[in-house]
Amino acid sequence: MSAWKILLTDGLEENGKEILRKSAEVVENPTISADELLGVVGDYDALIVRGRTKVTPAILAAGKKLKVVGRAGVGVDNIDLPAAKEHKITVVNSPLATTVAVAELTMGLMLSIVREIARADAGLKAGKWLKKELEGTELFGKTLGVIGFGRIGASVGQRAKAFDMKILGYDPLIPADQIQARGGEPVSLDKLLAQADFITMHLPLTATTRGMLNDAAFAKMKQGVYVICAARGGVIDEAALLAALNSGKVAGAALDVFATEPPGLNELVSHPKVVGTPHIGAQTVEAQTRAAHDIAEEVLAALADQPLRWKVA
Ligand code: NAD
Repeated sequence: MSAWKILLTDGLEENGKEILRKSAEVVENPTISADELLGVVGDYDALIVRGRTKVTPAILAAGKKLKVVGRAGVGVDNIDLPAAKEHKITVVNSPLATTVAVAELTMGLMLSIVREIARADAGLKAGKWLKKELEGTELFGKTLGVIGFGRIGASVGQRAKAFDMKILGYDPLIPADQIQARGGEPVSLDKLLAQADFITMHLPLTATTRGMLNDAAFAKMKQGVYVICAARGGVIDEAALLAALNSGKVAGAALDVFATEPPGLNELVSHPKVVGTPHIGAQTVEAQTRAAHDIAEEVLAALADQPLRWKVA
């Protein structure tokens, strides 16, 4: 048995822990606070997190033995990558694991807003038969604008094609022929905003993408557009979205992610035209099992100085 010590601070499916235990001592503390983590991180060779733990510069500096931070999932915006680089700590994720889960949730959210499924169900549960009030619209023949045409964006496009939607893709980092090969029509952001009946966000939160859907972007959209976001809360300016919902510019929005999580019962969450879910994009048995498997193998590979598939820093 090697002397590696690995700390899990956000939980991990059992299959991942089994892989890790074959080569390391595994310690779990899924409710650890930032202060507690700061105190103990120095004992560990690897740290595995999901979205809850904020891996700050202070934690990375305190991780004197830390060789690798693993993110079970895709988004690494909770890990300070420049600080990891500075301390020569490798960061890996498991980007393939959650694609299907998020793409399927996105389809569910889209259907939910056009047919007001949540309101229909709430009505029934309150003893009301809202049939007349609940005339929705169809996805059939509509244009879906996908912002960020990577793994999840392209998977959403593929699925939306089965609903006979037209797919527009905006992604400045992917060549036009690649977007086409993945089933989308490559377009500029302005064209997407102007032509889409539905806009769905599938890009990371960075300094460039923060607040990408702001007042100016909403002004360019069609009247009665639907907006879906299962990427990161910060990519939409929530005040601008609320204003666009109130003016009728946006007919409905579905949000799995929020600028602050949990968001509490604010005006956006309680808006009748908003369907919200508590960041459940990757919450399927299959996705979590895959993520645990992939991150366990990748973290062990990093500890053993083997080639890495998903090094992000
Ligand atoms: P990916 O890296 O395959 O795709 C992201 C795409 O965004 C890339 O193709 C990239 O070129 C593009 N992009 C970057 N900057 C852009 C910009 N300014 N404008 C347009 N496109 C831009 O990642 P993925 O696996 O498809 O995941 C996408 C995002 O989904 C993640 O970054 C994460 O934030 C989010 N996510 C959410 C959940 C959830 O639980 N809701 C789960 C997994 C992932």
